[in-house]
Amino acid sequence: MPKDNTFEKTMEAMGKMSPDEMKAKMAELTKICICGKCPSYKGTGENRLLFCATGKSGIIKKEKGCVCPACPVTEKLGLRWIYYCTKGTGKEQAGI
Ligand code: SF4
Ligand code: SF4
Repeated sequence: MPKDNTFEKTMEAMGKMSPDEMKAKMAELTKICICGKCPSYKGTGENRLLFCATGKSGIIKKEKGCVCPACPVTEKLGLRWIYYCTKGTGKEQAGI
């Protein structure tokens, strides 16, 4: 377990949510995702968001910068990584 295990704890808590609660949480997080302002996202034709929870983009391939550290979702979930659109979800990058 890493020293800062906020993300792991958050995922454990979210794992106990009902499907409806999870759906509401995903909608709430999608609303505040700032991927749309990211240089790796703009102009690619991608329209998905929340890659940190939903996984890699099938469209974004070039890493031209990542604004995830400035996104409120990073703090909310305790995320520690970047480039979720090319490298995979927080869970995948955490190896959990
Ligand atoms: S951390 Fe990145 S991928 Fe996750 S919601 Fe924020 S901007 Fe989107
Ligand atoms: S995950 Fe990071 S690199 Fe990918 S679109 Fe979102 S902010 Fe940009």
